[in-house]
Amino acid sequence: TLDVEWARRWVALAAQAITEAKDELVELDREIGDGDHGVNLDRGFAAVAAKIEGMDRPATVGEILTTVATTLMSSVGGASGPLYGTAFLRAGKVSGLAELGPDAVVALLEGALEGITSRGRAGVGEKTMVDAWAPAVEAAVRSAGAGDEPAAVLRAAADAAADGARSTIPLVASKGRASYLGERSAGHMDPGARSSAILLDAAARAAA
Ligand code: ADP
Ligand code: MG
Ligand code: MG
Repeated sequence: TLDVEWARRWVALAAQAITEAKDELVELDREIGDGDHGVNLDRGFAAVAAKIEGMDRPATVGEILTTVATTLMSSVGGASGPLYGTAFLRAGKVSGLAELGPDAVVALLEGALEGITSRGRAGVGEKTMVDAWAPAVEAAVRSAGAGDEPAAVLRAAADAAADGARSTIPLVASKGRASYLGERSAGHMDPGARSSAILLDAAARAAA
């Protein structure tokens, strides 16, 4: 069941996975950015994990996601801090429920994508985290429409995000720091798309 305990597990698994991927994310960002993405996110999710562990009896998934958002906004910085902050803020708005069904999972993911695009104004194919979140939302819509359980909807979204992250490799960046490189940004995976896939994989594992 996708309840408050699921949201707590998601946060814990996300923090752990981001720590494990820290060097990889730094390396990806070094290739087409300024090399701080892994460090930024690891600092942010360590703060998030501590905050959520210390939360006194959160009643809803939305309450947890909103706390994730405000903590990320004040601890990550760079481009990804406000983007992930807004994503979790919008994701948290969609659910005052104690437990999420398939449609609520879709709404959560749609909220996150909407937050990212309203903040960053990137579309699909611009080599950003949108290239992970947009296919994740599409896959979730398909999976929920097919009558899948919420955990399966999340797994479909996470797998699509991983494919989406890989799809950024040949792309030329037109948003964010990587766009300064022009054609030379091609041939590298976008760090934010990769971290997005990691976060969604943690969400799916927390539900399994
Ligand atoms: P900075 O570029 O400020 O150092 P980070 O390294 O933490 O910030 O994050 C970089 C990531 O942010 C990129 O890999 C990309 O996925 C994402 N990003 C940057 N600009 C945008 C945007 N306008 N829309 C969506 N995502 C973006
Ligand atoms: Mg960076
Ligand atoms: Mg930076």
